[in-house]
Amino acid sequence: MKTILTTLNAKYIHTSLALRWLYVANRERFDISFKEYTIKEDIRKIADELLLTGSDIIGISVYIWNVNQLKELVIQLKEKRPEMIIILGGPEVMYEPEYFLHNWPVDYIIGGEGEFVLGELLNAIENNLSVDISGVSSRKQISRMIVQADLNKLAELPSPYTLEEDRESMKNRLLYFETSRGCPYQCQYCLSSLEKGVRYFPEEFIFNNLRHVIEYGVKQIKFLDRTFNLNKDHTYKVFDFLIRNYRLGLSCQFEVYADLLKDETIDYLNQHLPENYFRFEIGIQSTYEPTNIAVKRKQDFPLIAANVKKIMDGGKIDLHLDLIAGLPFETLERFIKSFNDVFRLGAKEVQLGFLKMLRGTNLRKNAVMYGYRYTEEAPYEIEYNADISAEELDRIHEAEHALEKFWNSGRFKQTMDRLTGTYYKDRYFELFDEVGQYYKNRQYPHRGYQLEDLFRYLHEFLISKGIDLFHTLRADYYGNFTRRPQGFWEDTLDKKLRKQLLYRIGQDKTFLLKHNINRKIIEKQTAIDKLSENLYLLTIFIEDNRLELKYTIDGI
Ligand code: SF4
Repeated sequence: MKTILTTLNAKYIHTSLALRWLYVANRERFDISFKEYTIKEDIRKIADELLLTGSDIIGISVYIWNVNQLKELVIQLKEKRPEMIIILGGPEVMYEPEYFLHNWPVDYIIGGEGEFVLGELLNAIENNLSVDISGVSSRKQISRMIVQADLNKLAELPSPYTLEEDRESMKNRLLYFETSRGCPYQCQYCLSSLEKGVRYFPEEFIFNNLRHVIEYGVKQIKFLDRTFNLNKDHTYKVFDFLIRNYRLGLSCQFEVYADLLKDETIDYLNQHLPENYFRFEIGIQSTYEPTNIAVKRKQDFPLIAANVKKIMDGGKIDLHLDLIAGLPFETLERFIKSFNDVFRLGAKEVQLGFLKMLRGTNLRKNAVMYGYRYTEEAPYEIEYNADISAEELDRIHEAEHALEKFWNSGRFKQTMDRLTGTYYKDRYFELFDEVGQYYKNRQYPHRGYQLEDLFRYLHEFLISKGIDLFHTLRADYYGNFTRRPQGFWEDTLDKKLRKQLLYRIGQDKTFLLKHNINRKIIEKQTAIDKLSENLYLLTIFIEDNRLELKYTIDGI
């Protein structure tokens, strides 16, 4: 029998490591292949393409980001070929198999890490044996077992990182890599809290494969380990390996628990890490102790803050700090404090997420206790709870849009630094809240805008607040370009005059000589802006640098 494995990735650059593991674990014994798509693709087309493969069995990996589209896919597949056997696996389905077996036209659900269980199931189907396999549910029989694969056995299989099929596309995609599975923590909103123990892949396997993907020219590796730095020795060895095997253009992302970072690890990284190589994602979620106790999240915020500061002082690692809105007991007022506590640490990115009540999590089971209401369809985002109203969450949503556009994008660096360092010092949430509300009240779009529009909106917002940061904002605007841009949102010079001015300046040999530039650079690579009556600002774009010079000119 022919089997095809599939999933829908969130973006084209993503690759599904799960499909590759299932494939390498079973390709010797079964006629099996895999094909992945993205959530943006047309479901009818995907269904037709999968049916054209002539497969008898289809295995589908289901996640929160693709569950709605996959339901549609499954319905279409069964309609068009009712005899096709459909197996589901993945985090979204593993804790509530009954729900999917009763609401989706599927045959089997695998709970947990399916690499070896899939083989048992395929064998039973192909040989018409009764399916009584631990970890496999059907309409006849539900298995509560969440399977864990033996990582030493997985490491003996052909590597999922070195597949011939991926050779070409590997360089352009984000590569997911895992050195361990499982998490020892108990965060009640997270599916990983339900897994037992942490298991590591053998070192030899990790280093051989990392060496391979680095040599193959992968640009970005995202480590899937739930808490990468759990084990000090393991962390050190992998970091050290990556540093010794550094290749220009490669970057690595890790999820780390900041209070577990040791001084010697931070010192080592600050000393040896090449620039733009590592990015740490640090989940802080809330700084309110009653909230952290309610969701069983153990953390020491002062220690996190101290470690984040040490990392920031080293200037080598990009930090991305996560917060979650809508956790138990966190009112709007208390959330604002969490936001300000985290924002104050000064990370390049602050990701503000909204609590999702994932299937299987304890928080979802205890939803009534905290007065939660959440959407029935994925992503099960909360609408309100006993401590925060829908209107308040809506406000936080608008602030989050503003945070993404004006802080996390990095396109307004100098302006944002001025605002958060002076006008809105210690009132960081207020800044994004006010920008978000301003944006919302004017019905500016959240999609389909140009960079120029964002500058115009922020400029208008600042004027409305009586804040004059025009020159800083303009410098930020130019900072987004390596070549002279065409226009400018508040350009006061007309084209003809600009040309005349640049021509005149290009004739000033003393000036050119003094700044080691030539006439061509002035005429072709320079933006000119009027500062006062006869005074102009020249912004000169030379390769990756920008030079700002003032110039006085009379008689034009
Ligand atoms: S949120 Fe992170 S630390 Fe907490 S259980 Fe999930 S993976 Fe583990």
